[in-house]
Amino acid sequence: MSALSLRNVWVEYGDQIVLERINLEIASGAFISVVGPSGAGKSTFLRLILGQEQPTRGTILLDGTPLPPEPGPDRGVVFQRYSVFPHLTVLRNVLIAYEFEASKVVGQLTGKARRDAIAKSEHLLEGVGLAAHRDKYPSALSGGMQQRLAIAQALARRPRVLLLDEPFGALDPGTRAQMHALIRPLWRELRMTIIMVTHDITEAFGLGTRLIALDRPRLDPHAPGRHGAVVTYDLHLSRGGPVPIPRFSKPLDSKSLDSKSLDSKSLDSKSLDSKSLDSKSLDPSDEQANARERRQNA
Ligand code: ADP
Repeated sequence: MSALSLRNVWVEYGDQIVLERINLEIASGAFISVVGPSGAGKSTFLRLILGQEQPTRGTILLDGTPLPPEPGPDRGVVFQRYSVFPHLTVLRNVLIAYEFEASKVVGQLTGKARRDAIAKSEHLLEGVGLAAHRDKYPSALSGGMQQRLAIAQALARRPRVLLLDEPFGALDPGTRAQMHALIRPLWRELRMTIIMVTHDITEAFGLGTRLIALDRPRLDPHAPGRHGAVVTYDLHLSRGGPVPIPRFSKPLDSKSLDSKSLDSKSLDSKSLDSKSLDSKSLDPSDEQANARERRQNA
C-alpha cells in the first residue's frame, strides 16, 4: 500500500488555481525530492500533506485512510528556519516532543517513563551529532546545529512521513554537505517516508529516490491564475541509466542560480549520464546501498 495517495488534488485560492490534477502514489519508505520554480506550489503541496491546508478538490490518503484535516504526530516537519524552543536546552527541546505525546494521556512524564524518554532523546541527539551539547541552549549553537536539533525534535515523534521544506537552504555549503550525510542514515534507520522541497537540483538528485517537479506548463497572460501547477516530471531515480535534466518554465530560484543550477534557457533534451551524476553524488561511499534501496523504495 502506498504511504500517501493524492487523487485528483486541486488547490484554489479564489480564482487562482495553484495546483491542479495532482495524482501521485508515494511508496512507504520513499525519499521524494520536490522541485519547481518559485510560486509553483511546492510549499502548498507540503502544507496539504501536513494537514495545514485542505484540497479544494480531490482526496489525500495516508496509509489508505483519508488524511486528518489537521497536523498530527504521524507527520513531522522541518522548515528552513529553525523552529526550536530558545528557552529550552538541547535535551529538553527533544524531550518536549515525548512530553507533548504523554500530556494527552497522563499530563506529564514521571519516573520510568521520563527516564525512557530521556534515553530516547539522548539516542536521537547522538544520531544527529549533538550528544555533547545536550545542556546548551539553542543560542549557543550554530545554524547547522540548530537545524540538526530541529530534525531530532521532528524525529522524536516517530512520524510516518517527514516533510522537509528547504531544510538545508540557509546553511553554508560545508554544513549542508554534513546534513546530507546525516539525513541518509537516519532515513534508512527509521524507515520513514521523506518528502523534501528543495531548490538545489544536485541535492534533489543526490538524496531522493524519486524526483517530482511541479510547474505551470500553461500560462494565460489575461488570467494568470487560470492554470495551476501540475506534475511535469516524475522521475524514479536509479543509478543505472541516463538521467534526464528537467526543464522548467522559469529558473528554479534566483538563490540557486549558480553553476549547478538549471535555467530554462540551458535546458534542452540533454541528459546527464550516470557517471556525471555519480560525480555529483552527495554520499559516494553509500552508493551501492543507496541503489539497492532505491530499487526497493521506488
Ligand atoms: P512555492 O513554494 O513553490 O514557492 P507556494 O506554495 O508558496 O509556492 O505558493 C504558490 C502560489 O500560491 C503563489 O502564487 C502564492 O502566492 C499562492 N498562495 C500560497 N498560499 C496562499 C494563500 N494562503 N492565499 C492565497 N494565495 C496563496
